[in-house]
Amino acid sequence: MEGSVVRERFIKFFTDNKHQLYKSSGLIPDDESILFTTAGMVQMMPYLMREKEFENPRVCSVQKSFRTVDIDDIGSDGRHLTFFEMLGSWSFGDYYKKEAISLAYDLLVNHFKIDKDKLWVSIFEGFQDSELHGGNIIPRDTESEELWEDIGIPKSKIIALPFKDNFWGPPGLTGPCGPSTEIYYDNGKDKGCLKPTCKPGCSCDRFVEIWNAGVFMEYYKDENSRFSRLPYTNVDTGAGLERLTAVLQNVDSVFKTDLFIPIVDKIKSNVSSNIKNERSINIIADHVRGITFLIADGLIPSNEYRGYVLRRLLRRAMVQVIQIGGEFPFLSSVAESVILKYSNFYPELSLNKDKIMKEIDEEEIKFKNVLEKGMKKLDSMVEKLGSVKHLKGEDMFKLHDTYGLNIEIIKDILNSKNISFDETEFDNLYKIQQDKSRTNSSFTLGKNMEIELQNIQNTEFIGYQDLNLKGAKVLYVLDLGDEIQFVLDKTPFFAEGGGQKGDIGEVRGNGFSIKVKNVKKTKKGVYLHIGEYMDAHSEGKESSISEGDIVDCFVDQESRIKTSYNHSTAHLLNKALKVILGDQISQKGAYIDDHRIRFDFNFQRQLTDDEIKKIEDLINSEINKNLDVKVKEMTLKEAESLGVDLIFKGKYSTKVRVIEIGDFSMELCGGTHFGNTKDFGKFKITKQESAGKGIRRIRAELSKN
Ligand SMILES: [Zn+2]
Ligand SMILES: [Zn+2]
Repeated sequence: MEGSVVRERFIKFFTDNKHQLYKSSGLIPDDESILFTTAGMVQMMPYLMREKEFENPRVCSVQKSFRTVDIDDIGSDGRHLTFFEMLGSWSFGDYYKKEAISLAYDLLVNHFKIDKDKLWVSIFEGFQDSELHGGNIIPRDTESEELWEDIGIPKSKIIALPFKDNFWGPPGLTGPCGPSTEIYYDNGKDKGCLKPTCKPGCSCDRFVEIWNAGVFMEYYKDENSRFSRLPYTNVDTGAGLERLTAVLQNVDSVFKTDLFIPIVDKIKSNVSSNIKNERSINIIADHVRGITFLIADGLIPSNEYRGYVLRRLLRRAMVQVIQIGGEFPFLSSVAESVILKYSNFYPELSLNKDKIMKEIDEEEIKFKNVLEKGMKKLDSMVEKLGSVKHLKGEDMFKLHDTYGLNIEIIKDILNSKNISFDETEFDNLYKIQQDKSRTNSSFTLGKNMEIELQNIQNTEFIGYQDLNLKGAKVLYVLDLGDEIQFVLDKTPFFAEGGGQKGDIGEVRGNGFSIKVKNVKKTKKGVYLHIGEYMDAHSEGKESSISEGDIVDCFVDQESRIKTSYNHSTAHLLNKALKVILGDQISQKGAYIDDHRIRFDFNFQRQLTDDEIKKIEDLINSEINKNLDVKVKEMTLKEAESLGVDLIFKGKYSTKVRVIEIGDFSMELCGGTHFGNTKDFGKFKITKQESAGKGIRRIRAELSKN
C-alpha cells in the first residue's frame, strides 16, 4: 500500500465516521513563541482547552510536523525523522474510550488489513505520589484494558506502562492531561533485543508504536501539582504516516518506504555507485525533505531563531554530502525529487519550486568553501590521532573558532568515526571567547587566528592620510559563509586598538562587494578585515573574493570622522581630569566608537556633581576655542623632550605620533585624529560608575555625534 493511499484511506475512514477534515496548518506557527508545528494537536489546542467554539466535536487532519529533538538519531535507525506527516483524530467531549478504541482497531485491522495477531497495546498502570508531592492517586486505566480485551486483544498482549510512557501532558505547568493507550506492531521474536522479557516500551526495535489510539484528557493539573477531574473529556489520537507506511509495506525502515525511495534514489544517482554509506544518505533524505517543506512554508535560512534551524539543517546535510563524496550543487536536485513526490497532496511545494531551489543553491554556495576546508582540517586532525581516537577540546575549538564548523557538526562527524572528544574543555574555551566578546575589552585576535596569520606579511596602513585606496592585493581569505575574513597588502581601514573601534566601509573587487564590519590586527601587524557580501551576492549574481585579487577600499567617512572627534575628545577628557582631580590621574582603558566615549581612570571615589560639571565646563570651553587638532610624527626622544605624557611608551615603536589639541592637550596616540574642535558640538558626561577596585569609568558623548 503506497504512502499516498495510506493517507487517503485514513481520511476516508474518519470522514466516513463523521469527522470533519481540517487542512494542515503551516509548519511556521503564527505564535512567535512556538518554534515549529510539532504535531496535529497544535492547531486543536484552543478546542481541547474549550477556549474556542468548534463546529463539529469530531475532527481529523493530516498535519505537516517538524521537530529536531531526535536529530542525533536520524539515519542511525529507521524510525526518527525531522519532518513527518501526522495522522490525527479528535473528539471534543463527543465519544470517549469505547469508540476511540473500536475506531482504532477497525482502521488498522479492517481497513489497513494489519494481521491482528501482530498487535500489542499499552495502557496506563496508575500512579501514586508520595505525600510530599501532593499525594495524588491516579488509578490504573482498567476501562481501556477491558475494552481491548473485549475487542479481541489477548490479556498477555495488553501491557501496563508507567506515568512517563502512558500519561500525557499538561502541555505547560498546569492544564488538561490524562492517560493514553497505544498500539504496537510486533516485528517478530527474532527481531530486536531477543530477550524473553521484551515487550512494548523496550528500547529495542522489535515493537514499533504505530498508533496512539487515544490520549484521554480527563484530569486537570493545578499550580500545586494536584490532579482533579476535568469538567469535560477529550480524545486525541495520532500516528506518524511514515512509520505506519513502513509497517504496511513490510519494511524495517521509513527510508525504505515509497515515501522516501525516489529521494534516496536521487541521492544515490548523484554520487558514484560504489558509495554505500546508508546513514549519510538517510540523513540527507530526511533533512532535504524538511528543508523543502520549511522553505515552501515561507522560512528562509538566516542566523536567527527559526531561520537558524533551517540553516543548520542545510549545513548538516551538506556535511553528509561531503562524506559520501558528492559535489555541490547537490541538494536542490534532491529537493526536486521531494517536490515531485509530494506536490499532489502539498501543492505549495510545486508553487514555490523556484524559491526552494534558489534558497538551497545559495546556501550551498555560501557554505561550500568553509565546510570543505573545515572537513579537510578535521580529517587531518583525525589522521594525526592515529590509534589514540580522542580529540582534544582545544582542537575542537579550533575547528569551530577558525574554520567556522558548527559544534553539532563536529560532534556528529566524530561520533560517526567513533572518536571520543573533550566537550568540557571545548565548552570552557567557548565560554571564555563569549565573555571576551561580551565585555568588548579585548582588542586582540584569538590565539588560533594569530597562528593562522603568522606567515602573512604585515599590512601597510595608509588610513591616517587616505580613506580610499585603489588597487590593494588580497593576501588571504577565510570564507565562513555568513562572514568573510581577508587580509590585504595595504589598507585604509583602521584596525581596532588603543581603545578606538575598527573602521567600517566597503571593499569592491571584480564582480563582488563586501561590507566591512570590523577590522582587527595581529600583534605583529597583519590587518584582518571582517565583513559580509553585499545583497547582490546572495542572489548569486556576483563572484567571490580570492587570494591574488586586486580590490578597491572605501572607508565609511561619516563613521570615521565621528569616531575621530570622539577620540580627540577623550584626549581632552584625559587632560581635564588631571586639571580638576589632580596630576595623579592616569588613563586605565577606553572604548571609543562613532557615538560614544568610555574612559577608565584611577580614582578612589565617586565624582561629585560639582566635579562633573567642572570637567564638562572645562572641556566645552576648550572646544569653543576652535582648536586645531594637529598630528606630528617624531621620535620618542623628541616627544619626551616636549614633555609628552609617556605612560604608554612601552607599547609604541621608536617613531611615534603626537596629537596636539591647541595648547591644552598633547598625547602620544596611534588613533585617528584631525580637524578642528569647532565641529565637535557640546560635550556631556552621561554616566559615571565603578569599573573595578580603585577604577572609575566615565561615559560621555558629543552632541553632534
Ligand atoms: Zn526488546
Ligand atoms: Zn588616543
